[in-house]
Amino acid sequence: MKKHNFSAGPCILPAEVMQKASEAVIELDGIGLSLIEISHRSKEFVGIMEKARALALELLGLEGKGYQALFLQGGASMQFLMTAYNFLDKKAGYVNTGTWSQKAIKEARLFGDIVEVASSQKDNFNHIPKGFDIPSDLDYLHLTSNNTIYGTQYKKFPKTDVPLVCDMSSDIFSRQLDFSQFDLIYAGAQKNMGPAGTTLVVVKEDILGKVSRKIPSMLDYSVHVAKDSMFNTPPVFAVYVSMLTMQWLKDLGGIPAIEEINERKANLIYSEIELNPVFSGIAAKEDRSNMNATFNITDDELKDVFDEMCKEAGINGINGHRSVGGYRASMYNALPMESVGVLVDIMSELEKKG
Ligand SMILES: *Cc1c(COP(=O)(O)O)cnc(C)c1O
Repeated sequence: MKKHNFSAGPCILPAEVMQKASEAVIELDGIGLSLIEISHRSKEFVGIMEKARALALELLGLEGKGYQALFLQGGASMQFLMTAYNFLDKKAGYVNTGTWSQKAIKEARLFGDIVEVASSQKDNFNHIPKGFDIPSDLDYLHLTSNNTIYGTQYKKFPKTDVPLVCDMSSDIFSRQLDFSQFDLIYAGAQKNMGPAGTTLVVVKEDILGKVSRKIPSMLDYSVHVAKDSMFNTPPVFAVYVSMLTMQWLKDLGGIPAIEEINERKANLIYSEIELNPVFSGIAAKEDRSNMNATFNITDDELKDVFDEMCKEAGINGINGHRSVGGYRASMYNALPMESVGVLVDIMSELEKKG
């Protein structure tokens, strides 16, 4: 039986994408060769890469606005250092909203002064800091739009004249935003786009080439832009599956359509958490994430019962991150409404047992 997959990442992908991807491993589009045994310079793969890059900009509404989409390797973690390598001359600002922000800060410190402009650390990152000052002399400000581990998400982004860099690994393509407010967006594929192995980078061309240091080719966004994201062999399978997922999303009606579904899924689980006395939410209400819902059980004795009920219903991946505890239901784009319904039914059944 196929399980209800609430995994935080790598995570669920659309079933039809999985089907097509598995077929392409055997034979790509009737060409008599596998996707993973052809040259990345073949017209078939070049077409796939170009389609993936174009779909990313199209879905984000950034076509013809001076942006380039790249599919790089090294995960979002590589972007922690690449962003600093390419843009940090003297001083950059970071908002510390949890583990991923902290890892980005640690890497950036190797390249210049880092100002932590705001932090929610003393509350174990249960909310998004607001109303903080942003110095005007920063090379850039770095944000993490969705904090996968704590279940917090920016609903509004700070207004500033300094370039904005945003880690959107866990909510890319999930909601409508004015993406042109960002100068660079990055997202590891494995949360909302595809398998692990590639990272989408969307960069505004006019912020490139300004830093004074020399940059090794593989870490230089300008090199990847000049080579159409094919400077070296790209991760062909991860790019192909990401392309299929973006095509799936486009056919569904794009970000506006998925946003509506994501809101319905989030409302369903959050209203259960609010109304059911057996459960309590972890993240501050105004900042809670539509992708990762974090919650606790108020009565410890019911934990084992709940775990057993989830297991029986085929619910997978809802244990909270070890640094937060409790539970985390990740509801990425491909998670069906039905799966959230099954989880919520169990939650309300547990209340009757309590
Ligand atoms: C998962 C995650 C990362 C780390 O991604 P890798 O591809 O494993 O390096 C970074 N930022 C956020 C917000 C994440 O959710």
